[in-house]
Amino acid sequence: MDERAGYIKKRNILLALLLCATVIAVMIFVFSTAGNRPEAAEPVEEPAPDTAWRADVEAPEEENRLAELLGDKRPTGEAIVLYYGELQLGVSDGTVDPAALSAQLDAALDGRCTPDQKIEARCEKTSDYPVSFDALLNAAADAVLDEETTACGLYVNGALVGAANDEETAKDALSSFLTAVKSEQNLGSNSTVELRNVSYRTLKTAKRSVMNGSELAVLIARSCNEDVTISGVDYARIREYMASAELPSEELTVRTVVKKNETVAIPFGVQYEYDDSKPDGFSTEKRAGVDGTKTYTYEIVYENGKQISKEKISEAVVQQPVDRIIVRGVKQYLLWPLSKENVRVTSPYGGRIHPITGVWSGHTGVDLAGPASGDIKGDPIYAAMDGTVTTAVVSRSSTGYGTYVIIDHGERLISGKNVSTLYAHCNSITVKSGQAVKKGQVIGYVGSTGASTGPHLHFEVRVNGSMTDPLTYMYTLSIGGDPLDTKKFTK
Ligand SMILES: [Zn+2]
Repeated sequence: MDERAGYIKKRNILLALLLCATVIAVMIFVFSTAGNRPEAAEPVEEPAPDTAWRADVEAPEEENRLAELLGDKRPTGEAIVLYYGELQLGVSDGTVDPAALSAQLDAALDGRCTPDQKIEARCEKTSDYPVSFDALLNAAADAVLDEETTACGLYVNGALVGAANDEETAKDALSSFLTAVKSEQNLGSNSTVELRNVSYRTLKTAKRSVMNGSELAVLIARSCNEDVTISGVDYARIREYMASAELPSEELTVRTVVKKNETVAIPFGVQYEYDDSKPDGFSTEKRAGVDGTKTYTYEIVYENGKQISKEKISEAVVQQPVDRIIVRGVKQYLLWPLSKENVRVTSPYGGRIHPITGVWSGHTGVDLAGPASGDIKGDPIYAAMDGTVTTAVVSRSSTGYGTYVIIDHGERLISGKNVSTLYAHCNSITVKSGQAVKKGQVIGYVGSTGASTGPHLHFEVRVNGSMTDPLTYMYTLSIGGDPLDTKKFTK
């Protein structure tokens, strides 16, 4: 029993010594690593640190320090080794709980991707040194990110720009990019921006290459060389991706379609109204014209900022124009057959059919005299309207009309009624029966042939053969205009 007690005592002393040695070794290790270990990462320039989701400590350095500390004596025997599936993550110092590591891993991956397998601890014989929690975490994160997954690739012109978890996310990324371009260029709501030849295809890729929507939007922007601001982006991740991925070799074409409105005036038109109570040549504005407006919508296409085309796609009347209305007189007048100034009506029309005898008595026309009256060959006599000479009589008789002309004007003066004019007591005439004459044409000269007491023109108007007061159909000063201006009426 003593021997046994002595053995136990010796063993306890040895165990105590071994414990002391272990404690000292651990203390040395702790102090030494505390001294060498970097306090904090250098400040990072980028919006997000390069590897925000990774721990600071790199596993090989840790291992080197440990090897230095323990000399050449690699550990032997059994240790706790952590595995991700069948992939060895490293030797634990015994304090790492796989469940805690898994929880930490989920936080580090920040929902970007999920581990396919579990982290497990196995007790096995190994000569590897234990590593820190952070090193194990990094190894686990790398293992997960290296796993292959199915993703949706966004391709432009057949070149892969980047991948997202699914097509919806990829489409959202494109939409975010296009919205950002639109905002950058201050384009209105009826303008569109598009990226041409975009396609989506399922692909297999490492989980680390799968981007969230904002990150993929930035990848699209970089491929198009567009400088747009997109929030919620881990630029470190994008740099990491761009460093390893094969990027599209050509710059992509961003197509911007801008709808632009232009307003133009619609000139007003002119409408005419005709008033048969006003003389031909009379004109007045009844209503002023107002221009309308019209809007043209153009579609202007830009590719990478350069205008490619401009097309009118629609037009709409904003305000109809208001036509100007002009009233024109259409009443026809006979030309005064004498044109000189100071023409005088020396005897007006007037007469009646005698109630008993039934014979017309009175004056059948008007007598007109010009300043040259009294000359042997007086003032020229003008045709009062276009027509045909039906009678042209040269007579030296002292009775009747003497030398006279009758012109048939047809229905030119009054629609539906035949009008003819007669010019009597002429000194001479210049037309023959059957001759066509124009308004204002000289048909003869004032004289005093026939039953005349002095040089004058006896002028008659017959409507459907009946004598009528000529002044009814002549342009008088009370109506307006210059009744004696033959040029005006011959046009
Ligand atoms: Zn007369």
